[in-house]
Amino acid sequence: MRRIMGVLVLCLTLVWAVQAQEVKYDGYQVWRITVRTPAEREQVQQLVRDVWMVRGSTIDVCLSPDEQATLRKAGFTGEVLIPDVGARIRQQKSEFAPQDGSLFTRYLTLNEIYAAMRQLADQNPRLVQMFEIGRSIENRPIYALRLTREPRRVRVYRDRPQVVINAMQHAREWITPPVALYFAYRLVAEYPTNTQVREALDRLEVYVVPVVNPDGYVFTHTTNRLWRKNRRYIGRVFNQPVYGVDLNRNWSYGWGGEGSSGQPWSDTYRGSAPFSEPETYWLSRWMLSLPTLRAHVDVHSYSQLILWPWGYTTDLAPFSGVFERVGQAMQTAIQSVHGQFYIAGPIAPTLYIASGGMTDWVFGARGALSFTYELRDTGQYGFLLPPDQILPTCEEVYPAFLELLRWTRQRDWRE
Ligand SMILES: [Zn+2]
Repeated sequence: MRRIMGVLVLCLTLVWAVQAQEVKYDGYQVWRITVRTPAEREQVQQLVRDVWMVRGSTIDVCLSPDEQATLRKAGFTGEVLIPDVGARIRQQKSEFAPQDGSLFTRYLTLNEIYAAMRQLADQNPRLVQMFEIGRSIENRPIYALRLTREPRRVRVYRDRPQVVINAMQHAREWITPPVALYFAYRLVAEYPTNTQVREALDRLEVYVVPVVNPDGYVFTHTTNRLWRKNRRYIGRVFNQPVYGVDLNRNWSYGWGGEGSSGQPWSDTYRGSAPFSEPETYWLSRWMLSLPTLRAHVDVHSYSQLILWPWGYTTDLAPFSGVFERVGQAMQTAIQSVHGQFYIAGPIAPTLYIASGGMTDWVFGARGALSFTYELRDTGQYGFLLPPDQILPTCEEVYPAFLELLRWTRQRDWRE
């Protein structure tokens, strides 16, 4: 019996060790490939597992040594953006270690982000409230901050239009939660002295959700730095366990169309049905409960873009002129801080067709002015943006968010 127990313990330990084993990226490279035709782009996407970015004729891919050989054999070459992905990840880990007390000079863990949110709410009860929107597939809470004058008096002020900023639908986009968190912190800090901020929080309700995909984020810290999707267990394919739905292809507006995949192992797997995932389900339910949702930003990385509907079609969306004006105001605001240029335009023509995205739903189903940001950089580091760029990115996006608040406060754009 003891021997059986011993063997059992050994087996369990092995299983645990296999599951918890970190995915290594030694020998992996990120290439920027320029394709001549859509068919060629299609071919590249067929040949590689991990596509980082597609823009027009440019496509960034993260390649194993085998995939590098396969692409070369197929006649593709590319500019090497990252010569050793494994080394870059290890380097970022060592940069991750020092604790200097600042929230925006290193990448925080999920628990640290939640602690920072709680602290802000606890220390500013007349301006900030923290609450749980719902739970992830692995039962982690998804938290939001509600910023408005005297938030504890009523559940929602019917005469204060709501603005929602959320980040981290995609787990590897580490720069996105700090940008959302920084926005909340700076609004609170500037409330007493900045008239624009004071008027915004007196007349609006601003909601900040720094991490929509907490399971994925934890997984990028423990096991696979380049994980994108949530952590739903889907089943076994060729005897390999398959996990994950792309949350930003799981929203109901235009769900199932071009630019999303029906294959569970794909990085853009849309899920078995619209809102099949608890993360999108709870977020959408909550957004439907807001009486006057007027503006929204879904924060991603990378590429430096300010995008708006539609994503599911290249057709022009209604109110394109309004999107254009607000988008350009945001672009100018960002550029004025550190000189970084973010391209502004509708999702599908600017980037690629992507259906089942959040921004399409918020605009199409909820009627709010909705943007997708793609933050720094333009490809030098991609998802592995060094920590010394966290604060500058937060600083440059802040006035763009303020621009959205100003616009929302001034008018209902449908008038
Ligand atoms: Zn993303």
